[in-house]
Parts: sequence; structure tokens; C-alpha cells
Amino acid sequence: MGCKFIRENGDVCKARALIGKNYCFFHNPESKEDLAVAVRNGGLNSRKNNLSLPQRAIRSPRDVIIVIEETLNHLRAGNIHPNYSNSIFIGCNALMKAHEQSEIITRLNEIEKKLGTPEAN
Ligand SMILES: [Zn+2]
Repeated sequence: MGCKFIRENGDVCKARALIGKNYCFFHNPESKEDLAVAVRNGGLNSRKNNLSLPQRAIRSPRDVIIVIEETLNHLRAGNIHPNYSNSIFIGCNALMKAHEQSEIITRLNEIEKKLGTPEAN
């Protein structure tokens, strides 16, 4: 079934109506909120990341904190799409895990040296 919306020029909207509704997604009064979200997401998505954020060396947990803080502030201000921030947080998580692993290995090596145990490798 077609959308029943009539345009200003008298033409009927040619889009297919939503199942069980009289209007298409764009003209259905109930989907106004969804539409606003879709437009906003699409807008932010198509805009890509044009914040020209500085390239950072993210090596220490302190560097990770700076990046997380920066990202959260941009997210709260609505400057970046949650998809971007989610990717950044996943990256930060991976960096923290890698940092932890490398610290554990360093400590283990020191302990092994002190104990006089030959290093495995
Ligand atoms: Zn329509």
C-alpha cells in the first residue's frame, strides 16, 4: 500500500507505507523521533571525523586517559558519532591490555633474573 501523504503540489507520496500504517517512514507521525535520530546519525556519519584531532602517541596508561577524556568530552558535546567513540574506547582497551601484559612480562623477567632462573624463550 502506498503512503497517503499529499505533497504541497497535490501529488501523493509515491513511497510504500509502513506495514499496518497509512504513511511511509518519512511521513508517519509516529516515526518523527526515529527520523530525527536517523537524520542526526546520517549527518554525523556522512560528515566523517572532521575534528582534526591531534595525532597522539598513546603509549602509557596516562596517554590512554588523555585520549579517553578527550573523546568523552567530544562525545558529550555531540561533536563525534558514538560509533567513533566506541572504536576509540575499544582501541584504548586493547592498548591498556597490551600495556598490562608488557608490564607483567617485564616484572616476570626481573623476578627470573633475581632467582637466577634461565629466561624462557
Ligand atoms: Zn510518504
